[in-house]
Amino acid sequence: MINTDVLIVGAGPTGLFCVHQLGIIGLKCEVVDNLDKIGGQCIELYPDKPIYDIPAIPECTGEELTNNLIEQIKPFKTNFHLNERVQEVKKEKNYWIVKTNKTKEFKASSIIIAGGVGSFEPRKFLVNECEKFEGKEIFYSIKDKNVFKNKTISIFGGGDSALDWAIELSENSKIHLIHRRDEFRGAESSVTKVKELSKQGKIEIFTKYQLNTVEGDKKIESISIKHDDGSIKKIQTNYVLGFFGLIMKLGPIANWGLNLDKKYIPVNTENFETNQKGIFAIGDISIYPGKLKLILSGFHEGALAARGCFKYARPDEKLRFEFTTTSKSVQSRLGINKND
Ligand SMILES: Cc1cc2nc3c(=O)[nH]c(=O)nc-3n(C[C@H](O)[C@H](O)[C@H](O)COP(=O)(O)OP(=O)(O)OC[C@H]3O[C@@H](n4cnc5c(N)ncnc54)[C@H](O)[C@@H]3O)c2cc1C
Repeated sequence: MINTDVLIVGAGPTGLFCVHQLGIIGLKCEVVDNLDKIGGQCIELYPDKPIYDIPAIPECTGEELTNNLIEQIKPFKTNFHLNERVQEVKKEKNYWIVKTNKTKEFKASSIIIAGGVGSFEPRKFLVNECEKFEGKEIFYSIKDKNVFKNKTISIFGGGDSALDWAIELSENSKIHLIHRRDEFRGAESSVTKVKELSKQGKIEIFTKYQLNTVEGDKKIESISIKHDDGSIKKIQTNYVLGFFGLIMKLGPIANWGLNLDKKYIPVNTENFETNQKGIFAIGDISIYPGKLKLILSGFHEGALAARGCFKYARPDEKLRFEFTTTSKSVQSRLGINKND
């Protein structure tokens, strides 16, 4: 049994910054994530893509943001339990007992759920042969865009991810953009750009088409796509990318006795506590009037939830408000030596 002040479910940007906010007020935490790496959506879905709305950072990629968040919490030497899904949560006296699917157990006075969209999985192609090429020539997210340099790539989907990657990869590769409808759903500026690139011959657009078959033995050699009218086209391709969005499943979180609003957890905006005392929810998974599903909102929510945990971890102490700039105790927790 691992004892801690707070158990954080989810190592996305929100959970990571929350480690910092708990650390500077002197609370210890452990973090569990069912992915094999730290960073949540930023690292799983768009590590190479630039983000432009993190305060005071004009531009950084999903991976850079994750690395900076990890750097910022180094002083707290937090344990991360990756590849572990938090499965069971139950109350025992003043503590929460939390179990993972790998039978790890934690005892904590509070839980902060920073579970994003829950356990998320990409929506996949329905064509049977796709499974055998998945992770080799068929992908649902991009980890290293260099793999696709100077190749022929067939991108399926009509939303932002499909359009953004079609635009970006067209710089060095031949792109087929295939969508089952006539209209694209992505941002207007991206749709305009894709159409411009199509006129320049950099992107070939196929609308009202869906994947029909995949041909190849060890490697994909070609695919065939089927039009709404039943006609079939064969396309030579090296890689196939599918961007159909995510299937968002709350997973085990749905069974923890929390009020739910569809797949979100309602919280109060004073400290982001749920209907269960001592369980807080922050980031994409939380819902309240005016909620903005942005990383910056998750940072704010984590700051308040961390302070909400203090009364459960230190019931006999009063939490003092302090600035990091001037507080000696905060600076000592951050390992900052004034004489350096
Ligand atoms: C393509 C794309 C571009 C984006 N661009 C921007 C942008 O420019 N600006 C911006 O502010 N936002 C952007 N976002 C949104 C942003 O990524 C999310 O708001 C942010 O990741 C939410 O952070 P989070 O920590 O709440 O959740 P997540 O990043 O989703 O992390 C949650 C983590 O919890 C884990 N988890 C869930 N359930 C369990 C469980 N039971 N046990 C263990 N672990 C669990 C998951 O594995 C996951 O790693 C973008 C999103 C996408 C998809």
